[in-house]
Amino acid sequence: SLTIGIVGLPNVGKSTLFNALTKNDVLAANYPFATIEPNIGVVGVPDPRLDRLAEIFGSQRVLPATVDFVDIAGIVRGASEGEGLGNKFLANIRESDAICQVIRAFQDENVVHVDGRISPKSDIETIDTELILADLQTIEKVLPRLQKEARVKKDKQPVVKAVEEAKAILEDGRTLFSAGIAQGSERAEPLYELHLLTVKPFLYVFNVDEDELADEAFKEEQRALVAPAEAVFLNAKLESDLGELDDEEALELLQSVGQEEPGLATLARAGFETLGLQTYLTAGPKEARAWTIPKGATAPEAAGVIHTDFQKGFIKAEVISFDDLVDAGSVAEARARGKARMEGKDYVMQDGDVVEFRFNV
Ligand code: GDP
Repeated sequence: SLTIGIVGLPNVGKSTLFNALTKNDVLAANYPFATIEPNIGVVGVPDPRLDRLAEIFGSQRVLPATVDFVDIAGIVRGASEGEGLGNKFLANIRESDAICQVIRAFQDENVVHVDGRISPKSDIETIDTELILADLQTIEKVLPRLQKEARVKKDKQPVVKAVEEAKAILEDGRTLFSAGIAQGSERAEPLYELHLLTVKPFLYVFNVDEDELADEAFKEEQRALVAPAEAVFLNAKLESDLGELDDEEALELLQSVGQEEPGLATLARAGFETLGLQTYLTAGPKEARAWTIPKGATAPEAAGVIHTDFQKGFIKAEVISFDDLVDAGSVAEARARGKARMEGKDYVMQDGDVVEFRFNV
């Protein structure tokens, strides 16, 4: 499954956040015997629709979609110089599908900031700089060979053009993602063979003081700083505390700081969005469940997420949109109202589709 790597300067609250993430491990809760890597935190993407489906179908349990966060500890500054730990740091980022930078915005005289001052903007620039330098090194290594190849192989010319364009952006101090060349986009395609770091989608977590959580003006300012990336605001210590409370106590604590849901829930949702994912839903007496698919996935591809045999033997999908199902109150009534659609192999899945697949075995 896709993973999001957590990075950040020292002392910004990465460990505290990661701790909170692992306390909330939905995988551990739903599959007690699953082995989980110590540096991976699996977080559920809260989806109230599942609870509604569980009521309609009498499901015994609810299984939300999940997002995997990987703790990429290690040095940041100087990483691109490629000494031992720096290499490992960059290799870990290379393996992630998105990059989540934790930024310190909390004030605490007892916690030293590595640069002696709190400045989200310069923290972002520090990380960006290392990743940009690493990408420039990659490009400088391969560009002469690519240019040579392109002289005889005309089909290599678009790659050279894209790499040269990327180089100019990086030399200008910008990440490729922020310049609109994001992984998955057409413009990033010719660059794939280089495995660049800054094409990965970015996501920012501002670790803020409790009283800043509801400060809309502050948040708007930070959002503008990181756009088009998503910004999530949370207090890592508070998130860690929430993991130790029961639901009612947790809600009370959240309300006391003007929040409706845990920051981790917001983070999971933002992570899901950043990875370009969406869900479809299935429900029965055993479970109501959200399944993860890339945006734009077709019905057979969606079926394949449940089981490869479902994809191979795909015949059709019976699809009812969540709202229609809730209006009708049952599958039988939805069918009677003509709200159950039979979709074939070219159907592109929509968010909130409640699905039953028909397949040959
Ligand atoms: P890391 O180096 O980025 O992993 O940072 P840590 O999670 O180890 O946090 C560094 C220090 O900051 C620790 O003493 C934490 O207790 C403290 N810390 C983390 N988050 C917060 C926060 O939201 N508020 C305050 N006041 N301190 C925090």
